[in-house]
Amino acid sequence: MSRYEADDSRILIIEDEPKIARLVADYLEGSGFVTRHLDHGDAVLPWLEQAGEDGFPDLVLLDLMLPGTDGLTLCREIGQRWPRLPVIMLTARVEEVDRLLGLELGADDYICKPFSPREVVARVKAVLRRSRAALDPDTTNPSDLILDDDGWRALAGGQDLGLTAVEFQLLRVMMNAPGRIFTRDQLMDHMYRDHRIVSERTVDSHVKKLRKKIADVWPEREIVRSVYGVGYKYQPEE
Ligand code: CA
Repeated sequence: MSRYEADDSRILIIEDEPKIARLVADYLEGSGFVTRHLDHGDAVLPWLEQAGEDGFPDLVLLDLMLPGTDGLTLCREIGQRWPRLPVIMLTARVEEVDRLLGLELGADDYICKPFSPREVVARVKAVLRRSRAALDPDTTNPSDLILDDDGWRALAGGQDLGLTAVEFQLLRVMMNAPGRIFTRDQLMDHMYRDHRIVSERTVDSHVKKLRKKIADVWPEREIVRSVYGVGYKYQPEE
């Protein structure tokens, strides 16, 4: 049994609808989690800044539509300032998820309203498991590919792939949207924010090296795939 089975992790719920917040908090607390609730977007960053080690959350449930600072902005800010803090976004519409994925906010998961509180608990547990596995080689599944954003490392089954910064960014962009095909142009946009002119062949060469490094660890898996005439995608399973 995993030592995380009895979970007293702290979950910060950011949600302006009191009924939803209460329902989610009740279910999480029923599973042993400790919850905190904020109902205004402007309160979130100051709250995290002062939270301190003992009160700092292990995961954030973040509603998209909030009074004050909106969920998108908060998700980006949290990702930049506390990259190890997992975020699950709550959205009111299924169609919204596609748009959010396209924005590559770096959220760890998305849940659509209306949701069952049980589903929320299950997703919270899954995301916590994943983010912990990233930092603990003993609990890493040999088939897991995990990004360590702080160290700019990619771990394949716990083994550091030794990626360059560009290869890491490429992989991260694709992993944020599994199955989505990225054109070389789109990948270039993500890699070179300063709009340096690079050729499509530069992208190809970086992806080639990235794929080689993954193949060195997993010769039988092709998780970064070339899509002929279009670009590349991250495809963890068939
Ligand atoms: Ca809301």
